[in-house]
This record gives sequence, structure tokens and C-alpha cells, in this order.
Amino acid sequence: MRTQVAIVGAGPAGLLLSHLLHTRGIDSVVLESRDRTYVERRQRAGLLEQGTVDVLRASGVADRLDREGLVHHGLELRFGGTGHRIPLTDLTGRTVTVYAQTEIVKDLIAVRLAAGGDVRFEAEVLAVDSGTPSVTYRQNGETRTLECDVIAGCDGFHGVCRPAVPGLRAFERGYPYGWLGVLADVPPSTEELIYCHHERGFALHSLRSPSVSRLYLQVPHDDDIARWPDERIWDELRTRFAVDGDWELRDGPILEKSITPMRSFVAEPMRHDRMFLAGDAAHIVPPTGAKGLNLAVSDVTVLARALTEWYKSGSYALIDNYSDICLKRVWRAEHFSYWMTTLLHTDPSQDAFGHRLQRSHLDYVAGSQAAATMLAENYVGLPL
Ligand SMILES: Cc1cc2nc3c(=O)[nH]c(=O)nc-3n(C[C@H](O)[C@H](O)[C@H](O)COP(=O)(O)OP(=O)(O)OC[C@H]3O[C@@H](n4cnc5c(N)ncnc54)[C@H](O)[C@@H]3O)c2cc1C
Repeated sequence: MRTQVAIVGAGPAGLLLSHLLHTRGIDSVVLESRDRTYVERRQRAGLLEQGTVDVLRASGVADRLDREGLVHHGLELRFGGTGHRIPLTDLTGRTVTVYAQTEIVKDLIAVRLAAGGDVRFEAEVLAVDSGTPSVTYRQNGETRTLECDVIAGCDGFHGVCRPAVPGLRAFERGYPYGWLGVLADVPPSTEELIYCHHERGFALHSLRSPSVSRLYLQVPHDDDIARWPDERIWDELRTRFAVDGDWELRDGPILEKSITPMRSFVAEPMRHDRMFLAGDAAHIVPPTGAKGLNLAVSDVTVLARALTEWYKSGSYALIDNYSDICLKRVWRAEHFSYWMTTLLHTDPSQDAFGHRLQRSHLDYVAGSQAAATMLAENYVGLPL
């Protein structure tokens, strides 16, 4: 068996790469360890930078996104019982769009299969050889080898591709908190996202659609979801989101809840021989800046361009610069995600001096156009 590009992982990075390559006449096979239903239901990110929407639209996979996505022009910073709007579009001329990662994954799988694309589910990659190059995987109890020109390691943080890179340098930072994420069958109590700092911890009011809310609570990183019955979640959300005026948090049935630890991580370089790492396989950001999915999209956009140039003209110029081009954007997103996280979360080890500095920083971002513009520019995403 042989293909041009063997793609490990059918998350947004792997599926979009396969689609972009197809539009440029390059063959690929996507190998995914999970089944299709699992991949299409996994609840994750939901906020798209304008650049991400532009890439999906330009590649012809944004029909449903254009119909159902919710375009946002601002966000709210809430602290000290007061809300402060950051007018993203007024400050940057750009927008963000709420459209769940699960929906992007469904759209990409549908478009690949409709075009006769080769996406193999329940095909777990066991080993990659970036020199040959080839990929060994198991499907239906059989072990097979797929030979290729190039391997794209799009297999997320816990995949097999990154560990196969010798001499890779890792940069990492942990946080003493995680996010309890809730999907609730209730119309959102807000039209724009609310990022809330409270002495009891951070909270985020996001949304999935006009009828489904997505809410998050900062919890200790080792907390147990069994300690969070639904009533406790709503009580805590109400306490943290309390604000002057008559705003109220609507509650409703909780469809899903889970706790995710937070981590910053970057692996350098993102290329080894004929293998290229993309998305969470190469880097992780805490979700406060909503950058994880957007970085996956920017990585594979660069990779698709580089591979196209190589196949069409034999030029290594972009391929050789792939890692450097991506890492520049990755580190900007890493800094912004770290900055948003430390600005908004309550660090249990922070002393009174640290709390005063944090509050001063929040006041500054809310009150200074220059500081708000810095937030807005990074949040809507720098041009690809
Ligand atoms: C629980 C959770 C919540 C998140 N919430 C947010 C959020 O609110 N906002 C935000 O911006 N980002 C969020 N993120 C981050 C965002 O979802 C990721 O950045 C995004 O999924 C990255 O896409 P990817 O394709 O690189 O990796 P993934 O989506 O992880 O896809 C990797 C794929 O590879 C497959 N795979 C792994 N190993 C193998 C193997 N050996 N063989 C074959 N296939 C394999 C996996 O099953 C998976 O389908 C969240 C992440 C997690 C884990």
C-alpha cells in the first residue's frame, strides 16, 4: 500500500490537511484510532479566528459554518461585579465565529468521504518511520504498513508521532488549576462570551448555538467530577458571574461535564526527516485564549502550501521553513494564552500583593484602548 501523504489522526488538523491536499491534487490516507461516531461527538473547542473561517471558506467547506456559525464582534471581561466590553471589531476590523469543533470535524469527514477520500477509522497507528517513510497500523486485527512520501503527525498530544522524533526539545508549563466544562441544554444568557475573574476562581460563559450553552469553571487541577453535582455547578456559576444590575444566569439540564487539566507545551522542531508535526501533536495551550483549534488550522495551512510547492516544483524552500514559520505563530499564541490565563484565573498560591497587581492589570485592560487592542488583536488572530 502506498500514498503520497500518510496522515495520522482524524482531528481537525488531519482532516483539514487531507482536504486541502485533495483540492491541490495530492493524495492522502487518514488513519484514525477511534471510530467515526466518537470522533464526531468529542466536545472540544468552539471559537474560530477570522483567519480560520477564511481558510475553511476558501477551501469550500464552510457552507454550514456560514449558515449556523455565530459571528461575534466583542467579548465581556467581568470582574469586581462589573462587566467591561472589549469591542473586538471596532479595535481590529476583524471578527470571531462561534462554531463547534465537532461540527467542523463532521463537515470535513463528510466532504472527504463525498470526494472519495480515504479516511480509515479504528485504524491505530503503532509506529512511524520518518526515514523510509512508512506508517505501521492495526485495523480489524491485522497489522499493515502504509508507504508514503511524507508523514503528517496530526495525532494530538498523546499520539505516537512526536515520541518518535529523536532529540526533540520540549518546553512546558503546568498550572495549579483545570477547567470544569459544562454543556447545557439552555439558551445562553449572553450574546457575547463573558470571561469572568472572581476571587473564587475564573468562569467563562460561552455558547454552542442559540439553544445550547457552554460554561466553564476554574477548579483545582486534580479535582474529581464526582464532587460536582449539577446543582453545585449552577450555584458556583451564579456566584462567580454575579454582576451589578438585573442580569441573570439561566440554568437547565446539563448534557455533559468533564474536567480538563491545563498545560502549555511546545515541541521543537516540528519537522524530522519526512515527518511533519501539526496541531496538538506539537503544541498545547491552555484554552483561555481559544487558540488550540486555530493553531491546528494554521499549521496545516502552511503544511499544505509547503507540500504543494514541493510536489509541483520540487522546491524545498517552504518545506525547510515549515517549522520556523509555524513556531513563530505558535509562540505568539502560547504567550497570549498564558497571559489570558494568568490575568483571569485565581492562583491559590498568590499573595495579597499579587492579587492587587492582577486587579490593577484587569483595570488597565478594561480602561485603556491600547491594552484592550493588544487583547483584541491576539484574540481575533493575527493574519496567517
Ligand atoms: C478536552 C479538551 C477540551 C478542549 N477545549 C478547547 C477549547 O475550549 N478551546 C480551544 O481553542 N481548544 C480547546 N481544546 C484544544 C483543541 O480542541 C485542540 O487544539 C484541537 O483538537 C487540536 O486538533 P488536532 O487535530 O491537532 O488534535 P486532536 O483533535 O487531538 O486529534 C488527534 C486525533 O489523532 C487520533 N490519534 C491519536 N493517536 C493515534 C494513533 N496512534 N493512531 C491513529 N490516530 C490517533 C486521536 O484519536 C484524534 O482523533 C480542547 C482540547 C481538549 C482535549
